[in-house]
Formats: sequence, C-alpha cells, structure tokens
Amino acid sequence: MNSVQEPANPPFILSVSKDRSEPVEGRINLLDFDRKGLTAFFVGLGEKSFRATQLMKWIYSEGVEDFDAMSNFSKSLRSYLKENCCITPPEIVLEKVASDGTCKWVMQTHCGNRIETVFIPEEGRGTLCVSSQVGCALACSFCSTAQQGFNRNLATAEIVGQLYAAQKRLGETKITNVVMMGMGEPLLNFDNVVAAMNLMMDDFAYGLSKRRVTISTSGVVPAMYRLSEVCDVSLAVSLHAVRDELRDELVPINKKYPLKELMAACRDNAKIAPRRTVTFEYVMLKGVNDSLDDARELIRLLKTVPSKVNLIPFNPFPNSPYRCSSKDTMNQFKNVLNDAGIITTIRKTRGEDIDAACGQLVGQVQDKSRRHLKLANASFDHVA
Ligand code: SAH
Repeated sequence: MNSVQEPANPPFILSVSKDRSEPVEGRINLLDFDRKGLTAFFVGLGEKSFRATQLMKWIYSEGVEDFDAMSNFSKSLRSYLKENCCITPPEIVLEKVASDGTCKWVMQTHCGNRIETVFIPEEGRGTLCVSSQVGCALACSFCSTAQQGFNRNLATAEIVGQLYAAQKRLGETKITNVVMMGMGEPLLNFDNVVAAMNLMMDDFAYGLSKRRVTISTSGVVPAMYRLSEVCDVSLAVSLHAVRDELRDELVPINKKYPLKELMAACRDNAKIAPRRTVTFEYVMLKGVNDSLDDARELIRLLKTVPSKVNLIPFNPFPNSPYRCSSKDTMNQFKNVLNDAGIITTIRKTRGEDIDAACGQLVGQVQDKSRRHLKLANASFDHVA
C-alpha cells in the first residue's frame, strides 16, 4: 500500500503483527544520532567526519538499511557497522484509518510498550503527530494519555523512527509537517526530543523548515528557556486556563510553574526571531473555562506575547468528567479574541472515530509511576 488517503468507512484494522523481537543485544541504533552525534560516532571510529552525512543520505534519502549496500563505505567500515550497529525504527503493529482519512498507527517499542502516532492528511499538506514518551507523567485532568500513567522516555530512534516508519508506510504521500503533540510531555524528554527534531530539520535527513516542526508543552518552564537556546522550532503551549487556580486543576504542572513564570518563558521564546509567534492551545470545556470573561482575561494575559490561539474542542474519553463547549460558545469565544486582534482558530477534530484526536492517544503503557497512588496528590518535584 502506498497511500492511506483513501478513507475507509467504517474504520478498519489493516494489520496486526506479532510482538516484535528484541533488537540484537548490544547493537547501536544509528537512528539514535543526529548529525552531531553521528559525526562524533564516526570520528570515534577513526573515520572522517563526512561519513555522518553520507550515512544520513543512505538512511533518510535512499531508505537503505543494508550496510552492504552503502557503496561509498570501505569494506571494513561496512563490516564493522554490520556487526555492531542497526537501523531499527519502532514497528507498526496496528493501523486504523478513519472515515476522514486520518491514520493512526500503534507502534511497538523494543520493550513491549505501545505508543501511538497519527497522520492527518489535509489539502496540500500532511501532518504527523509524534509521541515523545510512553505514557505521560503529568496528570492533566482532561487528557486520556494521563490516565495511562508513565513508563519511560522514548529514545531518539523511537521518536524520529515514528517519522521514518510512517513515511515508509505512506510511500508517495509526503509528511510535510511534524507536531510533537502525541503521547507524553516532550520537554521532559529534552535531549532525545531535540536530537529527533534536529534530524527532522536537517537537510541530510528530512529537511523540514522550523515552521513545520512544532513542539507542544504543558509548560515545563526551565526546559522552555533551554529550548530557546538550542533548537529553533515552532512553540505551542497548552494553556487551557487563564487563572492559576483553575490551571492548577487542569494542568497540575502549573503548581510548579504558574502562569506568570510560564508567560515570561513564552516572551523569551518569542524573542528568538522577528515576527515569531507562540501558539496557545486552549481546550474548550463546557462551563469550566469557556466564559466570555475567560476570553477577555486571555486577551489580557497574551498582551505581552506575540500570539496565536488554537481552540481545541474537548475530545471525550471513557469516564472523563468534562464536556465540550457548544459550537456557539466556541465561536463567540473565538470572535472576542479575533476582535482584539489575536488570530484565533478552532482546531478541526480529526480521526475521532478511531480515537486519534487530541488527548485520545493511549497506546499500551506498563505504568511505572504508580499513577493511581499519586493522582490525588500530584507533585512535580522530579521534573526539569
Ligand atoms: N504534553 C504536551 C503534548 C501533548 S499535545 C502538551 O501538553 O502540550 C496534545 C494537545 O492536546 C495538548 O494541548 C493537550 O492539552 C490537548 N489535549 C489533551 N487531552 C485533550 C482532550 N481530551 N481533548 C482535546 N484536547 C486535549
């Protein structure tokens, strides 16, 4: 199959494979390195640094995984790589295609956890929503990933590997945009996520522009400052509330990094380049955060940051205590913001019939966080 654009109705399961075997013990997964990492790797072997970009061309442009076929490498280098290295993305074990063409893949990591990756085809572009962790350590009350608990950070190979596996699966259908909006909090897996995004933007790998790679965070403030320094990608912030009291409840990391600190970090990020804007995501929860007073307070809050606002209709999941705001309420909220000069859109919900919409990704997480014990008394002293 070269394209998943043909919508299937009703949603269907295309393929389920067996649990994949462990990667060969002790091998170095070359998808784990960005260009800098690969350069250090080859120099460490006594090879010239340009081997890094040669290898990247083989992997990402030619799709070659067989070291024997890498004809510009010496025989001894090829046999070293063959014995000691591998090119192993996570394996797609399940595919579901929604009636609107949105495609969700369940990908299996080597330790048997399952994460989810979503492809959203649109006119003129195709967006891949990538996961950064197995589960999530934050406990946002309106997000179903949060209910799964947390197992571990994904390796760089498992993050960029979602793009690798998805693009291979899609064939001619090009992935033009990546959003780090799948399972997990990307800024709590800083180094691996940055290396993966470097590959997404590297001309020798995927060559996506910084406008087409977006990281979304619930507000890990120290990591936001670090990000501004090392990696120029588009920033989205999951705001969801305009007062600390409510945000503490919806996005509990707010207790550690309250709105004032969060907005200062956003201002810092906006300074990276002229005309840069920060996108604020705001989930619309009926009777909770959707009043016109909230909209006016939002305008006040965003005054000092060049911003766009993306209103997200709440996507329900089993036992969730919330309901989505009505269409009228969302439109009124949007109009108030637009009238104040803040570009505001309502996110089109995609892939709802296969549970692929925002906040519906659950994967299969062997929770190590003892979430059920912690939920009542969440503390974030371990973060950042
Ligand atoms: N942890 C990161 C990445 C997740 S991105 C973050 O918080 O930004 C996923 C986006 O979908 C976030 O804005 C998240 O708050 C939002 N979301 C989570 N659950 C949702 C739900 N049930 N309905 C709609 N949006 C949801």
